[in-house]
Amino acid sequence: MSAPAPVRRRLEGRLVVATHNPGKLREMRELLAPYGVEAVSAGELGLPEPEETGTSFAENAFIKAAAAAKATGLPAFSDDSGLVVEALDGAPGIHSARWAGPDKDFARAMADIHEKMVARGAVTPEARRAHFVSALCVVWPDGERLDVAARVDGILVWPPRGNLGFGYDPMFLPDGHDRTFGEMPAEEKHGLPPRGKGLSHRARAFVKLAEACLG
Ligand code: IMP
Repeated sequence: MSAPAPVRRRLEGRLVVATHNPGKLREMRELLAPYGVEAVSAGELGLPEPEETGTSFAENAFIKAAAAAKATGLPAFSDDSGLVVEALDGAPGIHSARWAGPDKDFARAMADIHEKMVARGAVTPEARRAHFVSALCVVWPDGERLDVAARVDGILVWPPRGNLGFGYDPMFLPDGHDRTFGEMPAEEKHGLPPRGKGLSHRARAFVKLAEACLG
C-alpha cells in the first residue's frame, strides 16, 4: 500500500463554510468535527450570497469560498455539486438546483429530466447514464486555494424510488448497487471510511480534501 500523501496546508481552528443552506452546513459540520475544526457558516455570519456566475462546478465553488474568505479573514470552504446526464449533453449540471425552480420541486425536476431523456430515445439502462459531481474548494485569507472534485456514476431509473435523501436521489441508482440513493440511509450514502464506504460524490471529494489539508 502506498504511503498517504503529505498534508499540503493544514486547516485548523475556525473555518467559514460558504453556504446559506442549513442542510449542507449540517453535513459539512459532521464531516469536519472529527478533525477539531470549528465551522461557522456564511449564513450565520450574515454574509451576502455571491452570484454563481461560473461555468463549471469548480469555478462556482471558488467564487463562494473566495467571497467568504475575503469578507471574514478566515479560511473558507465551499462545495458546488450537481447531476450530469449524458443523454442531455451534461444538463442539468451546474444548473441542478435551478431546474427545481423557486419551489424546489424535485419531483417535477426529475419528471422533466425523464421526459427529456425519453424524447431523445434514452430508454435503456446504457442510454440513461449519469453522474453526480462534487467540487470542493478551500481559500485561505492570503489567497492560496485548494480544489478537489469527485464523482459517482450510475443510471437514472423511472419511476423514482425511495424517500430518503434529497434532490435527485430517488432516480439515481449508483453502479454496483440495487437501491437508489433515495433508498439508502444517509450513513450508507455519505459515510466515510472506515465506518462508511465513501460512496457519494461529496464523501469521495471530502476524502481527497481531508488527505490534502486535514491530515
Ligand atoms: P448547489 O447547492 O449549487 O451545490 O446545488 C446542488 C444541487 O444539485 C442540489 O440542489 C441538488 O439538486 C443536486 N444535488 C447535488 N448533490 C446531490 C445529491 O447527493 N443528491 C441529490 N441531488 C444532489
